[in-house]
This record gives sequence, C-alpha cells and structure tokens, in this order.
Amino acid sequence: MTSQLSRHLQSRQVHPSTVKRVTTVWGGDHGGDAFQFGATVKVHFNDGTEPFEFEMSACEIVCRTDCAELLEKTIVDGLTLGLEKIAESKLNIFLDEEKKIQCSYGEKPVTIQDENIKILNKVFMYLTGDLAFFAMALGRESMSGHWCFLCKMCRSLFSKLDQHAEMWTMAELLKVADEVNGGKAKFGVKKKAWWPFIPLENYMIPLLHVLIGLGNDLLDSFLDWVNEELECLDNQEILTKRAIRTAEHKIIDATAERDAWLGSAAGKKLKSLEGMVRYRKNKLRELGAIVKSVQDARQSGIDSPLDTNEMLQDFEHFVDCDFDDDLNGMSADDEEPMDGSLFTVEIDPSMSDDLKAKIVSCHEEAKAAERESAALLEAKKIHTDRLKKTRAFLADMKGAMKGFRSVRKNQLKASSQSS
Ligand SMILES: [Zn+2]
Repeated sequence: MTSQLSRHLQSRQVHPSTVKRVTTVWGGDHGGDAFQFGATVKVHFNDGTEPFEFEMSACEIVCRTDCAELLEKTIVDGLTLGLEKIAESKLNIFLDEEKKIQCSYGEKPVTIQDENIKILNKVFMYLTGDLAFFAMALGRESMSGHWCFLCKMCRSLFSKLDQHAEMWTMAELLKVADEVNGGKAKFGVKKKAWWPFIPLENYMIPLLHVLIGLGNDLLDSFLDWVNEELECLDNQEILTKRAIRTAEHKIIDATAERDAWLGSAAGKKLKSLEGMVRYRKNKLRELGAIVKSVQDARQSGIDSPLDTNEMLQDFEHFVDCDFDDDLNGMSADDEEPMDGSLFTVEIDPSMSDDLKAKIVSCHEEAKAAERESAALLEAKKIHTDRLKKTRAFLADMKGAMKGFRSVRKNQLKASSQSS
C-alpha cells in the first residue's frame, strides 16, 4: 500500500503536511471464477484540496467457490500480517532528499525534518463484502442466514421489527470463540475472527447486496400483483402461489410444534436418554481401545511402556464419572442419530471383577435406555417428518413458481423485441 500511495501522492504533487487522513475500505468477494481481495484507499487533505481515491488489489484466488477453509489455507495468514501492520503502525508520509514523496510504517525516519513529514497515528480501516464473507471473517461461516453478525438476534426474531437485541463487540466474539474452541458453535460463533484489530462497527453493512435482495423481492411482488390483478394469470400459477403461502405458514407451525415437543417432558426425557447412551458408548469405545492396546502389548511380548493394570484401574474411575455432564450445551437441532450397535469390550482376564461388572452394567444401562427411547423417538419423528415433508413441498412449489416467472419474462422480452 505504501508504494502505491506514494506514487499517487507524488503524481499529484501534494506536500505531506497537507495530508489529513487516509481511509481504507477492504473487501473480498467472489465473482466470475475468482475470489478477489483488495481495497479502496482515500486520502483527505486539510488545505481544501479535493480528496482522491484509488483502488488496489491485494490478492486473487482462481476458484469456483470460496469457503473459509480455502481462504485460510491460501491467503488469510499473509493478509492478516499486512492488515495488522496497517492497523497498528503509524504511517509516515514524507519528502526524501530528492524531494520525492515516500511512505513508510513505524518509526519516523531520523534524517527527515519535521516540516517535511506527516505522521498519521492510524489509517482508518473498514471492511466490506457480502454477508457470507463477513461470516467467514468473523469465524461464523455459513451462519449468516441464522444469526445477525452485528447483534445477538437469531433468525426467528428477524421478522419481528419491534425487537431490539444487544450488539456484539469484537471482544465478546473472541471470548465466545475461545469458549467454543473448535467445538459446537455458540450463537453462530464457530472460531476466532480473522482480523480482531478491525473494530466490528467498521464492518460495513453490504447495502448493495441488501438492495439487490430487496429489489428482487419488490420486483417479484410487483410483477405478481400485475399478473394477478391486471393480466389474467394462468390458474395453475395462482394455485401454486397460494400453496407456497400455505406451506410457509405450515412450516412455522410445524417448527413451533416440534420445538414445543422437544421442550416437553417427553422431549427432555429423550434428550437425556440419548445423552446417557452416547456417553456410555463413548466410554465403552475408549475402554475397548485400552483393552486392545494392553492385549497387543502383552502378545508381542514387549514390556508395555505403560503399566497396563494401572491403565485399567484408571479406567474404572473413568466409567464411574457422572454422565450428566455430557448433556449440557446440546441444542434442539442436534439431530445426531444414535448408531444402532453398542460397542463391545472384550473381557480381559486381568480386569478386576468390579470392572467386569461395570462393563456389563454399562451395556445393560445403555440398552435399556435405547429400548426406553424407542417410543419417544417415534413421537419425535412424527414432528420432524412433518417439517421435512412441508419443507420439501415448499421447495417444489418454489421451483415451479420460478418456472412460471422465467416463462413470463421470456414472453415479455419476446413481445418487446417484436414491437
Ligand atoms: Zn442485528
């Protein structure tokens, strides 16, 4: 950035002392067959000179789609280094010995006299892009449809215009990311934001994308109105439209019903049983691995570096632990089905009778819990199936609607060309 900035300043023959402020808007977007990241740099002056701006490209990846993993494996580290330097160093703009404008970061060059240098304590940095890009940059990839990136509102509240939610701060986002630590997302936060040194309020709402979305909706609704009220629409299309509205209402109802069931005594019971089975399966799986490694070591005749009996004893304590811990932090959408089979652990002669009995009871408890949850699972399935079916129906109807619309647009085009 410094080399381009000095070139632009030089070509305008400005004096460093007249520079008032440098603002940068950074952004990334995918278009065509590449992801591009760059900035618009704008320079303001304090002597009435008109501000000017220029664009610069920072990097480009040729790819069909962009996702956080791809960007993180290619450009993010390099970008972070550069952006952090710009965010956290002073920017010096000065005339060198040959009276040419130069720019540098950090300490003031010692040989330069005060009247020939302007030191900017900071370069203003803003970030732009679409919601998907913001979500990636903030460690909440693919959550943009579910959670607002600025405030703590989630999707189900988006349509309630009278709702107000607390705003996120970057510090809080980082704290939640720390708590998540690669585990299950919390409030849509999956991991650390890429650039915590850019304040969250400098993430600019992507007006263009919002307007495109709103504009499309408006245009579609207007065309629908014209077609329904002014043109005599094909009956099929009117029916499809009504079906979509009905399905949308049904989905809201079915979701509420499912959530109500999940929150009911039966739903809670199922959740607790599932947690209990999952916990026991994990314990048995881990114990199985330990038993196997003990046996392998014994068979190969090598002295195991670990005291095998001690390992098994440690495990007894492990099996004893309270399984309820596993239940916290699971949400209604955790639809991880339980796999059918229970892990079997070979009973090893070196195990204590106590441990043997515990393995057996671990199995039995898990099996009993599975039997008990079977009926509850059926009840839950009624709700989730209804929701799935309605969603599929809605998708079909929307597909059909798109078909109607594109036929109509083509007709419009054809008729305007012929006239
Ligand atoms: Zn919001």
